[in-house]
Amino acid sequence: MSTIADDGALVLFSGGQDSATCLAWALDRFARVETLGFDYGQRHRIELACRLPLRAAIAGLSDWRARLGEDHVISLASLGEVSETALTRDTAIGFAADGLPNTFVPGRNLIFLTFAAALAYRRGLRHLVTGVCETDYSGYPDCRDDTLKALQVAINLGMDRRFVLHTPLMWRDKAATWRLAEKLGGARLVEAIRADSHSCYLGDRSVLHAWGHGCGTCPACELRQAGWMRYCAALPPGPA
Ligand code: ZN
Repeated sequence: MSTIADDGALVLFSGGQDSATCLAWALDRFARVETLGFDYGQRHRIELACRLPLRAAIAGLSDWRARLGEDHVISLASLGEVSETALTRDTAIGFAADGLPNTFVPGRNLIFLTFAAALAYRRGLRHLVTGVCETDYSGYPDCRDDTLKALQVAINLGMDRRFVLHTPLMWRDKAATWRLAEKLGGARLVEAIRADSHSCYLGDRSVLHAWGHGCGTCPACELRQAGWMRYCAALPPGPA
């Protein structure tokens, strides 16, 4: 059995703005950090290609490089097969009859975190870090604080461990997430996340906008753009 390291963390790292900020947050706190991504047949699979360059850019910003360990990618093709959603099918993004966005992949975060815990168990990592958020979220019930707290209890009972699920973005909106990145790694980290992370549901990276790459019209792009505008509006004015 692996020995649990009190200072070891596994970051669920999709390649998006939120998980990139979480990676910096973890590198700032834990002596040993590993990353995990999932290939579940998402339409925006391009986010998987963004992961390693973004990871390297973040780690290179300070002495974080020495703390960054292995990257893992788990294939969950079966999740895409059982999910009839706009994230895993070529259908228009909108709202389902129950009021939830049709980009909601049922159970996705429950499954991701359970797999993450299984990997952390093997790797001897105690801390699981995920960028879920209740403040600025898209209405996904598996991003709620209560869901994550219940899941931590279930995982710890089911695996007989004492994992800690960290959600540093839970009560931050997208503008506050940019401010957290600035606090952790300054303007260079903000720029790395702006230019190298991926949020667009449609996988569009053809244009680099002020707020990053994306189609500019899908819900993920709209959320990211609005957050960037609020973040910039709150910045002190630069030199004339
Ligand atoms: Zn988009």
